[in-house]
Amino acid sequence: MPTSKRLKSQGIGDVLARQRELIARELLEGTGAGIAVGLVAGELRQGIRIWFSELGEKHGPVAEILPHGLKSHSVRLFFGSFSGSTLSKIRMAGEEETALARALFRSISPDRKVEIRGQDPLSWLVLDGGFEATALYRHDRHKPDTEEAIVATCREVIVPMMAAMAELIGYDPVNDPVPDTAPEFEGMLSRVVVNRRERNLRNRLLCIRLHGHRCAVCRADPHDVYGDAGSIIEVHHLEPLGLLSSPRPYDPVSDLVPLCPCCHRAVHTKRPVPHTPEELAEIMRRKDG
Ligand SMILES: [Zn+2]
Ligand SMILES: [Zn+2]
Repeated sequence: MPTSKRLKSQGIGDVLARQRELIARELLEGTGAGIAVGLVAGELRQGIRIWFSELGEKHGPVAEILPHGLKSHSVRLFFGSFSGSTLSKIRMAGEEETALARALFRSISPDRKVEIRGQDPLSWLVLDGGFEATALYRHDRHKPDTEEAIVATCREVIVPMMAAMAELIGYDPVNDPVPDTAPEFEGMLSRVVVNRRERNLRNRLLCIRLHGHRCAVCRADPHDVYGDAGSIIEVHHLEPLGLLSSPRPYDPVSDLVPLCPCCHRAVHTKRPVPHTPEELAEIMRRKDG
């Protein structure tokens, strides 16, 4: 049958040729860093390799997706052989960076069987170039060499893993901070954000992965109103870190809450300590009642 013949000749390489842009964009949005995507020849089958373009394939973390059996992808995150200076940056990561990186790993579904070689999945650290994380993603609905399966593995496993690495590598001190006000040129923002590996992106990624796209106050998902243009949910820090009377460890899981842009503006009408989501919901109920 000609159809099956054509399907057979398709592989990860063909999918990658079509989806390279999409994969790179998802990773940029999730990690804040420019990503390079390439093909890798595995022992038996072709796979995909992903790394930070700024660091190159040899000087930083690399994530690899290989088909595994008939239904699964095996994912492996490891460090290139010349990652010394990246690893010394990572060893300087503070508590907040480490907490966010671990929370990003934990946000990957247990079904994906994430393991960190020789380390506890809750308290792992990147100590040297021997760091290796693996995952197994079984695709029951699509074959592993289809676009759907590859994009799902990227979105659900590679993006959080690479975002965690970006968080540990940290900010590039050479670049100017991102201005709070809107920049004059779109291109300027994206360039600065890429260089700084903006943490807000990773907080947002984690918050959406854990809590979804629905506003915690009005329960609206902007996608229901704006469709593809609806990725506008914002991330609110429940307690502004600068205002804590007694400093406590930052918990990215419980401290972040998704709010739609309107509700987000509304909670911040109270200053300096904003309304809690519950207070705002109560104000909205009272106005109706
Ligand atoms: Zn809302
Ligand atoms: Zn806020």
